[in-house]
Amino acid sequence: TPSTPNKAREENILVTVRVRPLSSKEVAAYDLIAWDITDEHTIVSKNLYHERHTGSNTFDKVFDPSCPTWKVYEEGARDVALSALNGINATIFAYGQTSSGKTYTMRGVTEHAVKDIYEHINLTPEREYVLKFSALEIYNETVVDLLNRESGSLRLLDDPERGTIVDKLIEEVIKDGQHLRHLISICEAQRQVGETALNDKSSRSHQIIRLTIESSLREDSGCVKSFLANLNLVDLAGSERSTQTNTVGIRLKEGSHINRSLLTLTTVIRKLSDGKRSGHIPYRNSKLTRILQTSLGGNARTAIICTMSPALSHVDQSRNTLKFATSAK
Ligand code: ADP
Ligand code: MG
Repeated sequence: TPSTPNKAREENILVTVRVRPLSSKEVAAYDLIAWDITDEHTIVSKNLYHERHTGSNTFDKVFDPSCPTWKVYEEGARDVALSALNGINATIFAYGQTSSGKTYTMRGVTEHAVKDIYEHINLTPEREYVLKFSALEIYNETVVDLLNRESGSLRLLDDPERGTIVDKLIEEVIKDGQHLRHLISICEAQRQVGETALNDKSSRSHQIIRLTIESSLREDSGCVKSFLANLNLVDLAGSERSTQTNTVGIRLKEGSHINRSLLTLTTVIRKLSDGKRSGHIPYRNSKLTRILQTSLGGNARTAIICTMSPALSHVDQSRNTLKFATSAK
């Protein structure tokens, strides 16, 4: 269990930072490393000018470029993922600028979470589990089923018992770990289909893989106690879309440059982390936050893995990412 230098754990939000290695492109361009990881919780800018603006950046964990994904999973996501086995809604997401390692990290985290969940299920024969899989993409505030793109734009409905539900979203009952990995690969292929049609798409769309885990004690063991929870694995749009200031200078043809879902998510996270004093939480302002509402805040557990490039050429975006990470603590 990672130690907790701040109040994040009490607030049920675990905030970690993963710095990827310099890419070969960055190396070829003689880019420099702009950050020092001074201990396992702290990252500081090497440049004093930036330092004055960011202060000291302390998080539940800072993973250096050599850190393998299994360790990121174990220390930055595992507890949150496994809480879904005990009926606690959970969300794990990667936040960071495009090319900072969100997809790389979430793929690995998802793989480890699936393996871990099945290991736990096998170790708990007294409980009967039913797992369901669904996956969707949010692009331009349009929700699409990654298991069935043909169904087009899906509506969100308010269910008095279950909260916001995505109308007509396919929920597959998962047979075993292999079936689950197959479903995940279908979604990855589907995501790439959209990608070739519009090359900037992955930086602007959000992907949610949702595992619904239901369990009950088998009959002969006496009292029947059932659990039901969602585990949401979220690969967010690039964070360069998350701040209005970044969008002022650049006007794209579509009015889609400001990513409403990402902007609302950052507000929701900040307010949740501020605690009770922050008042109204604007879940209903975007599709992403409506869909995740019952899995963010309240009794839900959240893990935020902030990904960043170590390069000097990306220092401004990395600072913005750390600012968000700090606001989430
Ligand atoms: P994003 O989804 O944030 O746009 P990607 O996950 O696609 O970024 O990562 C960009 C590139 O960097 C990919 O080629 C990926 O394989 C590589 N990469 C990202 N994180 C790491 C890491 N921790 N170790 C090695 N390579 C990484
Ligand atoms: Mg990506």
